[in-house]
Amino acid sequence: MTSLTTKPADSATRSERESLRPSIIPFIGLHIACLGILWTGFTVESVVLCAILYVIRVFGITAGYHRLLAHRSFKAGRVTQFLIVLAGSMSLQRGPLWWAAKHREHHRDSDTPADAHSPRHYGFWGAHMGWIFRPRHKADMNLIRDFAQYPELRWLEKNQYLPGMALGLGCYLLGGWDALFVGFCLSTVLVYHVTFMINSLAHVFGRQRFLTGDDSRNNAVLAVLAMGEGWHNNHHYYPSTARAGFRWYEIDMTYYVLWVLSKFGLVWDLRQPPQSVLRGTKAPTARIIDQTAGHLASAFCVDELSQRIRTAWADSHHMDEVKARARQARDSVEAYLADIELPHLPTLDQLRTLARRKFANVPALEDVVQRAHARLVTAVSERLASDLAPQTA
Ligand SMILES: [Zn+2]
Ligand SMILES: [Zn+2]
Repeated sequence: MTSLTTKPADSATRSERESLRPSIIPFIGLHIACLGILWTGFTVESVVLCAILYVIRVFGITAGYHRLLAHRSFKAGRVTQFLIVLAGSMSLQRGPLWWAAKHREHHRDSDTPADAHSPRHYGFWGAHMGWIFRPRHKADMNLIRDFAQYPELRWLEKNQYLPGMALGLGCYLLGGWDALFVGFCLSTVLVYHVTFMINSLAHVFGRQRFLTGDDSRNNAVLAVLAMGEGWHNNHHYYPSTARAGFRWYEIDMTYYVLWVLSKFGLVWDLRQPPQSVLRGTKAPTARIIDQTAGHLASAFCVDELSQRIRTAWADSHHMDEVKARARQARDSVEAYLADIELPHLPTLDQLRTLARRKFANVPALEDVVQRAHARLVTAVSERLASDLAPQTA
């Protein structure tokens, strides 16, 4: 074991932590605000308002943030584009460009450790909402340069909380406290969770019709709640289509609304899945086969398998042979590294200076310095050798 330390994976700079704050404040604040319903109770008007604001904003997220910005699956005029995205931004799920960039990352890194909200790696709740509390969920904004060219979308990005706050204020001014708490706050919380369920539930519960290399599922209940997004395995299989429901019975309200809007010429070029996709005959790429194989293999614990083999081979020459060959391989790498100069290692002088700062002029300090240097060379050589060893699982 070496005393060399590495930067923890979850460490975050001050600016990274600060960049996180605005996404949490409305999320927590709106959950607390729902307690106001205990005081106002439900009225027919407030429940109807809640339903209307839910549908409009889920559509804004699914059609605007997701299918238009993240996937370019249809085209719209500037005004229509702005209005659909505006509806999404009233959901207080951060800026449209951030959201779409983060989602493009999700498709690029699906269910790998780099995927910010993978249940496989971060657990169900970590994928559902825990990830927004983690500092490292900044998006790579280079991924959304295509839509960042529109000044009106950049304005929405900059003023990402303005539409939602204006909607909340409007509800209060026009309908009073019950319109605010039930109509606005409750519907916003519902939109949060139904969106987040696509990241969590739709990667855990449901069926996988297609080989996608990730855990995406088709889930009919989510498809109804999230206006079509529950056909998430279809979507991961062919993300660039305006349709998430591939079969006639796969209800996809977002697509139906887009289809109606296309009849009025407000949107066009609704991208359809090709026949090979609908029939499921599109050949999976080598990357998908590799990822799926990795997931399949991960059902077995390599440590446990190795231990069983060790036990089974306890009295056999196989284990001695494996150890001897491993030793030979390690010795060969260490011998090579010993012959060349390793860059970045502290010199003897640097270690001497550090030792003098740490300790008084104790006897044998030079021995300590020499041994520390040798230890570093050995430890780094071992680490380099083990890092370069082929992965067996
Ligand atoms: Zn997904
Ligand atoms: Zn997507």
